[in-house]
Amino acid sequence: MDYKKLGFKCGIECHQQLDGRKLFCNCPCIVHDKEPTVFFERKIRAIAGESGKTDKAAKTEMKKDKVFKYQARETSSCLVEYDEEPPHAVNPQALETALEVALLLNMKPVDEVQFMRKTIVDGSNVSAFQRTALVAVGGYIETTQGRVGIDGLMLEEEAAKKVKEEKNEVTYDLARLGVPLLEIATAPDIQNATHAKEVAEKIGMILRSTGKAKRGIGTIRQDVNVSIKGHSRVELKGFQELKFMEKIVEDEVKRQVKTKGEDKHVRKLNPDKTTSFMRPMPSAARMYPETDIPTIPITKDMLLKIKLPELLDEKTLRYEKKYKLRPELAREIVKTGVILKNYTKLKLDNNFIADVLINYPKEIKKRFNLESKLSEKDFLEVLTYLEQGKISKDAVLDLLVKKVKGQKINLKSFETIDDKTLEKEIKKIVKANPKAPIGGLMGDVMKKFKGKVDGQKAMSILKKLL
Ligand SMILES: [Zn+2]
Repeated sequence: MDYKKLGFKCGIECHQQLDGRKLFCNCPCIVHDKEPTVFFERKIRAIAGESGKTDKAAKTEMKKDKVFKYQARETSSCLVEYDEEPPHAVNPQALETALEVALLLNMKPVDEVQFMRKTIVDGSNVSAFQRTALVAVGGYIETTQGRVGIDGLMLEEEAAKKVKEEKNEVTYDLARLGVPLLEIATAPDIQNATHAKEVAEKIGMILRSTGKAKRGIGTIRQDVNVSIKGHSRVELKGFQELKFMEKIVEDEVKRQVKTKGEDKHVRKLNPDKTTSFMRPMPSAARMYPETDIPTIPITKDMLLKIKLPELLDEKTLRYEKKYKLRPELAREIVKTGVILKNYTKLKLDNNFIADVLINYPKEIKKRFNLESKLSEKDFLEVLTYLEQGKISKDAVLDLLVKKVKGQKINLKSFETIDDKTLEKEIKKIVKANPKAPIGGLMGDVMKKFKGKVDGQKAMSILKKLL
């Protein structure tokens, strides 16, 4: 596809939840919470915006005449979420993280942060508006296709999560309402579908580098704005995984090529990786100033106090060099936040250690359907047996499975046998089945000495004998 010729224009909006406390109260940002104990309902009216007009998106929503039901718990919400108490002062950690991200994105912070109210009529905010503030402007990131501008960074409240939708009734859960959310909007500098994914990945990496971003599915979401020459802008809403971004953006371009005279609109992502019309594009009529929260001046002192973190990409490269790790293992070690230096004192290959730490828990989950809750102590114990020659490499997984199951470890059953004995035993097996293929013989050997011998060593003895 010739993106240049088509006049491809594309920018991304990235939404990242922050960890810690909520933006305007002291409730913790817990997503997985107990059963709800608080229930209430509201009807929401569309409110005219600054311009005096009710915007188009709001009108579409209002025609539906719905009742909004809310469920909550006292562990993760208070009167602020229920809109029965004014917002408290802005969470200073959240503001500091927003400024930290702004600096990492080469942006200029504003002189004064002023929160605005943005009309929300789908019921996902009890108050019928979302509080949002512009924190910084005019930044950029470097990419393989050149610089991509970062136009704005907003600090805002996360909306409540929809848990049920019936004909005239929508139920929202309030655990997520008020979680600090960063919104980062790029300039329309993205050059093609592959580039869109690269930009989203880079912004995600920068956000995670702060150590203050929430992790897990749904904690980061991307909206991608796409248009080609002569066509209105279309927003593809709510990417949670970047895996399919390339294909979906490419498909949108193909769709626009085939379509004529369409209005600006928002499209939702379907589970089968297609998109469909969701609603008209919201207009600027939705913002008005929040008078309950005083403006916050951004001082030089505030900015000087911020310590910028090492970016995860840089850390990965450093680990590759320092520990001689394969790139994919270095990336995973950095991503999962494992403290590798606590293991590198062991006289074992660092790549093997990293493989055990990263991939064995996945293997245990896949093969035994066990959720691995292995601690550093568990890993160190088992790896130390290996270092001391008490067990073979092949026994490491079995021992970790025992640890996950909480079973006692009897090292005797895992004791390694010396090379001489092993060779003698293998000879016996070969003699008993002289015509068997090497794979079959190997199977017999491993069945007899499961966990006690190193597979590679047994194989090389077998090859020697045949
Ligand atoms: Zn609260």
